Amino acid sequence: MYVNGEWIHAQSGETREIINPYNQEKIAIVPEAGREDTKAAIQAARTAFDQGEWPHIPAAERGKKLFQVAALIDEHNEELATLETLDTGKTLVESRADMEDIAGVFRYYAGLADKDGGETIEPPMPDAISQVVREPVGVCGMITPWNYPLLQASWKLAPALAAGCTMVLKPSEITPLTTLKVAELMEKVGFPKGVVNVVTGPGATVGAQLSESDEVDLVSFTGGIETGRKIMQAATGNMKKIALELGGKNPNIVFADGDFETTVDYAMNAVYFHAGQVCSAGARLLVEESIHDRFVEELVKRVKNIRQGNGMDEATQMGPLTSAEHRMKVEGYIQVGQDEGAKLLIGGKRPEGAEFEKGFFLEPTIFDGCDTKMRIVQEETFGPILTIETFKTEEEAIALANDSVYGLAGAVWTQDMSRAQRVSRSLRMGTVWINDFHPYFPQAPWGGYKQSGIGRELGKTGLEEYTEQKHIFQNLNPQPMGWFK
Ligand code: NAD
Repeated sequence: MYVNGEWIHAQSGETREIINPYNQEKIAIVPEAGREDTKAAIQAARTAFDQGEWPHIPAAERGKKLFQVAALIDEHNEELATLETLDTGKTLVESRADMEDIAGVFRYYAGLADKDGGETIEPPMPDAISQVVREPVGVCGMITPWNYPLLQASWKLAPALAAGCTMVLKPSEITPLTTLKVAELMEKVGFPKGVVNVVTGPGATVGAQLSESDEVDLVSFTGGIETGRKIMQAATGNMKKIALELGGKNPNIVFADGDFETTVDYAMNAVYFHAGQVCSAGARLLVEESIHDRFVEELVKRVKNIRQGNGMDEATQMGPLTSAEHRMKVEGYIQVGQDEGAKLLIGGKRPEGAEFEKGFFLEPTIFDGCDTKMRIVQEETFGPILTIETFKTEEEAIALANDSVYGLAGAVWTQDMSRAQRVSRSLRMGTVWINDFHPYFPQAPWGGYKQSGIGRELGKTGLEEYTEQKHIFQNLNPQPMGWFK
């Protein structure tokens, strides 16, 4: 682990084996930190913030370092992408694209670092001046999930560093490798010691410590809704700021006038990328009743041809799920769907054949005849499961789409641009795509309505999350007030 500028073991000496979900081969051994290690890392970040130079150096200098990190990530694209695929099972093509996105995130915040010089406002009295300045929020705890290990870390690291914060990052205990590698690249760039700390270990100890600690000023979490609830509660002790990026159950709404070929293609892209382990996966297909039969027939035909296999193989379209526990959870949902009376059209089981014996594979699955009362529609299955509902009118489509505790993302497909706008404005979601699914980029904010989260990452807001606003008022002509004579 990387703490206070040094590579160290856990104080207990405990370790954890990291395995490749494609074949269960051991690929690395990492320290299994506990609360003591976490306390030490928090202390390092605290000292670096309270006594170090990092928060005070010109923002442009911080930006320069982030440009250097971006350049090193580009340089190590293949190595990082390979590590991510070995660790998560996702296809190498997806991992390479992730690494490009990650370099882009660092570059975006590198450029943004010195762009907000605060503002001067006009106070409502004579002989006075008011300034509003932004200052780094302090020591940040960062907790990330296993589905996009380095991408989610970059959404936190880059803006926090640009703002002048110091941090302790805890990657998911099952996918820590790319985060550790980037800490190594950051060491090359040369951040002052204690500014960036990476502690590997479980959520219940390391994550909980970061959320509870009075020495941490902000905790930024990406992960599941139940963990988010725990973190929110733990954060009350010192009223630390919280930023939560939680799950989603995202509707993909297809009107009959949407381009047939493109909508069928995107119905698959929406849900089956990374075997459905995407917070914004389009796992709910809402299709207009008049085209349902034709649409579903074509969809099933194509889903049969999805090539599963080793993520390292360039021909693979869908890799395994990331862990054995997670596959069991997703299989549980397949049972739930069947028990609830949803109609299983395809998939629902582990693929057969020697290639799939050791990996945590699950077939791409479709349930038809679904409705919003079903758990399979309401809960985030986070696997390759698509549920299909039908609607007759625009109003019904909107009502169905919004009937969810989540509000992360959704899409609408139609040639009628007035309808596209009406529907987009009516959806209670942080991101809406019109005639597309999935695009996100550093310039635009990302986050959830309702129980999909609190706050926004990316965009200008993603930087503001790591700052405090300070109002400085100056009386230019101080005179006795004479009130208490
Ligand atoms: P998770 O909630 O199980 O774990 C996420 C992280 O929290 C891990 O590092 C884990 O160790 C840690 N953790 C676990 N218990 C903790 C505790 N008590 N206190 C503090 N930390 C704790 O989530 P996961 O299974 O790793 O990831 C999948 C989830 O992440 C899905 O729900 C997905 O939708 C969500 N996600 C959301 C976004 C987004 O942008 N909104 C992006 C990616 C993933």
